[in-house]
Amino acid sequence: MIKGGMSMGKNPAHRPSVLREPSSGSDRESSQNVVNKPTSDALSGNCHASQVIVVGGGPAGFFAAIACAEAGASVILLEQNPSFLSKVRMSGGGHGNVTHTCLGSQPLSARFPRGEQELFESFQCFSVAETVFWFETRGVRLLTEPDGRVSPATGDSQTIMDCLLNSARQAGVDLRANSWVQQVVRKAAGGFQLLLGGGEKLECDRLLLATGANRAEESRRLAVSLGHTLTSPVLSLFNFQVASTWLHELAGLRIDNVVASIPPVDLSASGSLEVTRWGLSGPVILELSAWGARPLRELNYIFPLHINWLPQVSRNSILAMFQTRTKIQGNTAISAQPPPGLSEPLWKALVGANGIKPDAPWSSITLEQLTNLARQLTDSELFVVGHYANKGEFVTCGGVRLDEVDFHTMESRVCPGLYFAGEILDVDGAAGGFNMQAAWTTGWIAGQHLAVPGAGPIYAPTESRPYLMETCSG
Ligand SMILES: Cc1cc2nc3c(=O)[nH]c(=O)nc-3n(C[C@H](O)[C@H](O)[C@H](O)COP(=O)(O)OP(=O)(O)OC[C@H]3O[C@@H](n4cnc5c(N)ncnc54)[C@H](O)[C@@H]3O)c2cc1C
Repeated sequence: MIKGGMSMGKNPAHRPSVLREPSSGSDRESSQNVVNKPTSDALSGNCHASQVIVVGGGPAGFFAAIACAEAGASVILLEQNPSFLSKVRMSGGGHGNVTHTCLGSQPLSARFPRGEQELFESFQCFSVAETVFWFETRGVRLLTEPDGRVSPATGDSQTIMDCLLNSARQAGVDLRANSWVQQVVRKAAGGFQLLLGGGEKLECDRLLLATGANRAEESRRLAVSLGHTLTSPVLSLFNFQVASTWLHELAGLRIDNVVASIPPVDLSASGSLEVTRWGLSGPVILELSAWGARPLRELNYIFPLHINWLPQVSRNSILAMFQTRTKIQGNTAISAQPPPGLSEPLWKALVGANGIKPDAPWSSITLEQLTNLARQLTDSELFVVGHYANKGEFVTCGGVRLDEVDFHTMESRVCPGLYFAGEILDVDGAAGGFNMQAAWTTGWIAGQHLAVPGAGPIYAPTESRPYLMETCSG
């Protein structure tokens, strides 16, 4: 069992404990006029009390609740849905994905388009090594996929859900499904009163909001009502809907080693992509969508996408190869001879997209056509006309502003006793386990400090670090 280890740093009692005026900004949802005034009787009537209440039964809420209860606090976890951990269930396409083998706070935090600087600090307290250690010491064997994703050996996300549910129960967390938190009020004497959808009232000394991506207006309102400002929610990690019809014929094809770029926002990424019925998906596309989440939203998801299908070869050498073929293999059909490294279906589609008949012999192709084909291979321009989700795999960026939270403790700098963890924050990572890692890290840190408020930074025990090396290299 993991407990908070070494304690370091200054007591964070110096943090501002007054409500701050929210900053203005076009993409921010202002908390002005909706900040709850501290009150002793805002929600009148009898309340059940607990030391700590966690709102949100996702990975961040569970990790926080477990860490907090294991450190000795009484914890209630409230989830609006009938079941817990629905996104854990969907992670890794249902196979489960707990983290990514990315060691070290710097390379790990660099995989976060939003939150890099803040998470760098947090990952020093609890990171990939600790996540692996946490699950493996609770009986979950983890495997590293070739692309770096870490998943349960069972290949079933239910394994992760069972581990979290069992750990929470064993730690004594009072798990309550069908419990929608409608309103939260900060009490004058400290602590919070909560009103649930069914009319029930609860009280707690300290509160964690782990309500996720906050696309639901009511959940956004909870943080705003306690004095926080939220950057507006925008999709991240989505696929591109492409208008270029020649591409659609290739649905199902995976193409490795391409370079894709979006000139209007000056973004590029390399790796593999997949052609789908609607357009393009795969690691390269998800990477572009994560780093370009806000600027691509500003373009209304309509933009040119340039792809170099053969980045290892220069355009001039491709053209020279074509010219040689017109001379030496003039009678051979062009579509029968894709350039080395290019798949035949893609080559045929590119030839067709250039208005060349597939059975046309090399000798019949004009220099202009050859030049166009070489350009097409190294710089195809496709037209993205929207986005779509693959099995609903959206991550949302936007959320509680990061300068309003102390990432050493996950406590609000605006409202004492209030903590945040997970996707409610304006933090989001690349595809492949980074978002789950952010949920575990921020949840674990919040849980420790919810249990022992006022402690300095708490670090997970260091014996977990060599353990990870064994796991990942095995
Ligand atoms: C389909 C899909 C697949 C994904 N796959 C991966 C993956 O493979 N790897 C990866 O790293 N990330 C993946 N992600 C992203 C990852 O799931 C999220 O980053 C992560 O779940 C965020 O955790 P969270 O606890 O902050 O929020 P959530 O998981 O969203 O949990 C928040 C919970 O709070 C509850 N809630 C909200 N408001 C209230 C309220 N007022 N009262 C009570 N309860 C409330 C919600 O119902 C929800 O259960 C995936 C996301 C999706 C949608």
